[in-house]
Amino acid sequence: MTTTLTRFAPSPTGLLHLGHAHSALFAAEHADDGNFLLRIEDIDPGRCRPEFEAAIKEDLAWLGFEWQTPVRRQSEHIDDYRAALDRLQAMGLLYPCFCTRKDIQAEIAAAGHAPHDIPAQNITSGPDGFLYPGTCRHLTPSERADKLAAGEPHALRLKTNTAALQSGPLTWHDRGAGEQQATPEIFGDAVLARKDTPTSYHLAVTFDDAIQGITLVTRGQDLFAASHLHRLLQALLGLPVPDYHHHGLINGPDGNRLAKRDKAATIRDLREHGRSPDEVRAMAGNGDPA
Ligand code: GLU
Repeated sequence: MTTTLTRFAPSPTGLLHLGHAHSALFAAEHADDGNFLLRIEDIDPGRCRPEFEAAIKEDLAWLGFEWQTPVRRQSEHIDDYRAALDRLQAMGLLYPCFCTRKDIQAEIAAAGHAPHDIPAQNITSGPDGFLYPGTCRHLTPSERADKLAAGEPHALRLKTNTAALQSGPLTWHDRGAGEQQATPEIFGDAVLARKDTPTSYHLAVTFDDAIQGITLVTRGQDLFAASHLHRLLQALLGLPVPDYHHHGLINGPDGNRLAKRDKAATIRDLREHGRSPDEVRAMAGNGDPA
């Protein structure tokens, strides 16, 4: 039998709250003894801060978590992501996108419909927000070359439909929801390298789960849809396919899911108010919240 290796992969953009603790508990409980990793997802240069990374580790240790070392920090592995992008580029599956958010919104409003290659004409947004209308995919080679030569900032987008056709039908398995037919096209042409950092959440998380040998990816329901796209990236890059388990989200007192701004629910705040690690673990719940 294979050993189950799981990970908790927070972004150091704020303090941990009960929702994170729930997620970390869920991951640790599903791991075979000692096979639990902490990974720091710090690719966002504008929002990640070393002091949050230190606070995350301190809070997790206070809660009694133990994780294998060394801890992978995504910002130290940009070359890996670049190599993966180069492979996709060589397969003809990426294109540079020079659009701003505003350009995209204006294009969608002007066209009055979603991208041509999204089957349902009235769908204009996907799990990551607006579906990209394909503007830069249709640039001529010389228009594209001019923009690149002028040093215009650009993201790299995946030709999702072309890639999905190339891969053929794909499935993945969620321990809660069962066998899933992958539908990566719901993302439209997803960004795999952002303008401000030469990777994206989707690429980095998929690559890292593979290179770290994660056998069971656990994370919140809010990222369920992402697994459709990650499955396609695995197929394109020849990466192993882990099992998945998406857990429920913890809601705050207002009924909305907890966010980093809910200070009262931070582990730090609960510690400072005299709660014990056992109490906080119980508050975070040991399984899916009701
Ligand atoms: N870094 C992501 C977050 O903080 C989680 C990534 C994942 O578990 O796939 O939301």
